[in-house]
Amino acid sequence: MRQNPIPLFTLGRQWPEVENEVRQALERVFATQQFILGPEVAAFEREIAAFLQVDFAVGVSSGTDALLAALMALGVGPGDEVITTPFTFFATAGTVARLGAKPVFVDISPVDFNLDATQLPKAITPRTKAIVPVHLYGQAADMDAIREAAAGIPVVEDCAQAIGTTYKGRPVGGLGTVGCFSFFPTKNLGAFGDGGLVTTNDPKLAELLVDLRVHGMRPRYVHHTVGGNFRLDAIQAAVLRAKLPHLARWNQARRENAQRYLKLFTDAGLTEIVKLPEELPDRGHTYHQYVVRVPQRDELRAFLADRGVGTEVYYPIPLHRQKCFANLGYGQGAFPEAEKAAAEVLALPIFPELTGQEQEQVVATMAEFFATRL
Ligand SMILES: *Cc1c(COP(=O)(O)O)cnc(C)c1O
Repeated sequence: MRQNPIPLFTLGRQWPEVENEVRQALERVFATQQFILGPEVAAFEREIAAFLQVDFAVGVSSGTDALLAALMALGVGPGDEVITTPFTFFATAGTVARLGAKPVFVDISPVDFNLDATQLPKAITPRTKAIVPVHLYGQAADMDAIREAAAGIPVVEDCAQAIGTTYKGRPVGGLGTVGCFSFFPTKNLGAFGDGGLVTTNDPKLAELLVDLRVHGMRPRYVHHTVGGNFRLDAIQAAVLRAKLPHLARWNQARRENAQRYLKLFTDAGLTEIVKLPEELPDRGHTYHQYVVRVPQRDELRAFLADRGVGTEVYYPIPLHRQKCFANLGYGQGAFPEAEKAAAEVLALPIFPELTGQEQEQVVATMAEFFATRL
């Protein structure tokens, strides 16, 4: 029997739920014909700042530009080093390189896939200008340990996969010096295009970020620093305002799906073969991705694809092994945990509207694969 395909991710099921509110929000923008920044963006910034429990939220053009603007605000430039993880989306380190600074990688912890704070001290030098932990897959990095090791060096949280994630009860984005978020459509809170956000509790940094977003301009046509076009569109802000009230419930649905996978994999007797994500205490995982470790990962992925189950590998090549970073001189084996993760991880469908029946089908198909292979 051919079963219905199960996508890794779809927005199609969310749309009917928010359609009326989003259409009304868009009509509001159409009526004003004001498309960039303006009152819609300002209102969104107030609402998201409250949600994230931060003093300042600055809407920007993407998660990448959030990182770029944050690093610019901290004065990162040629001769500086910025420490981050090699197991993340490219933008985390790409923005460092674009500013002429050097990305310095520190291996991950195999438990939560996040920057291993115990290895931070040996990477810090007098040139270290910032440290960028990533809350990968929606689970917070160990921020207390990272801040302690940083010993005053600014910490930029890459929260692109972790909106609504908490650490010891507090939302990420307000735990370091600056927080950076993405509203790429597939993130837990997605816009209708590109969008991003920078958060901080530092009023001076907030003011600088607001200026950097418009080419370092204040007042009009007076430029006191070189920034960029990092502006957020009113249309994106309107969509995000309509969706924000649903975010906590969507994140909760992802958590419930993760609980169901735990039960299904346990009942199927697969937990020895399929290493499930480990949720650490006090990290309020929001499961942007549900990532397991499996043997024969690529064969399993092809097997699932043949049977209509969508999966993805985040990320197959750690950043220190990317061609564009060859000049940094990191060889194979430089970061063994990141390399091992890159070879073993597989993201399964976890989106909020995924049904229990679909999850059963995912697990049953994996059981079928391992029944014949191991
Ligand atoms: C998505 C993502 C980004 C970049 O966000 P964009 O909005 O796509 O520019 C940065 N870091 C991480 C970890 C991400 O997942």
